[in-house]
Amino acid sequence: MAIAAELYALQEIDSAIDVARATLAVVEEQLGETEELTAARSAVEEHREALRALHDSQRDVEWQVDDARSHVAAVEKKLYGGTVRNPKELAGLNDDANMLKGQLQRREDELLNHMVKVEDQETVLRQAEVLLKEVEGRWRGEQADLLSQKERLEAELAELENGRRAQAGHIEGHALGLYDLLRDRRQGKAVVKVERGMCQGCRISLPMSVLQRARSGFDLVQCVSCERILYVS
Ligand SMILES: [Zn+2]
Repeated sequence: MAIAAELYALQEIDSAIDVARATLAVVEEQLGETEELTAARSAVEEHREALRALHDSQRDVEWQVDDARSHVAAVEKKLYGGTVRNPKELAGLNDDANMLKGQLQRREDELLNHMVKVEDQETVLRQAEVLLKEVEGRWRGEQADLLSQKERLEAELAELENGRRAQAGHIEGHALGLYDLLRDRRQGKAVVKVERGMCQGCRISLPMSVLQRARSGFDLVQCVSCERILYVS
């Protein structure tokens, strides 16, 4: 094969390697936990913590209710137990009983309020757990896809790199040196086709003498403008 054709074949392999590497980088960046997943997980933790706090304060209110209830019972026992007969004392006990019943009522209302809050919080927690499950399921599927893409790309890259070694082995050192230099300088494209007398790297019309030399394919001919190696197929 003529040198320009060999270099063009090498360029095709290198371009494919560039694409595969860029795709692999994108895939690798997406591997791991997503923001959506960590947000869904911390929402569940927050709601669970809030529920725990509500349960704790509900227990406090329950104790207060028990306490108030036993106060009422104690005063009523005195009031109706028959041991106190003094009307003034009885009237006082009656006032106490009423006041304590009022307190008990307020505590019981508070407890009821709490129970409603706990129920609401349980609903919110359940919804957050359902969402987390859904996000996790989707995330697992996506990660499995990404991992198989990664494996496929790595296999493809290994094959391309083998191909590259074989292809580069056909090309002499000076030409390879120029190729590497141009690939570095010209955004990875060192060899370009000539179509309708134009360099496909920079689109200028090439002088006839350059075209003729490029057509023979046995010389390394570079574009007069962008310096890329010209390949006439
Ligand atoms: Zn050019």
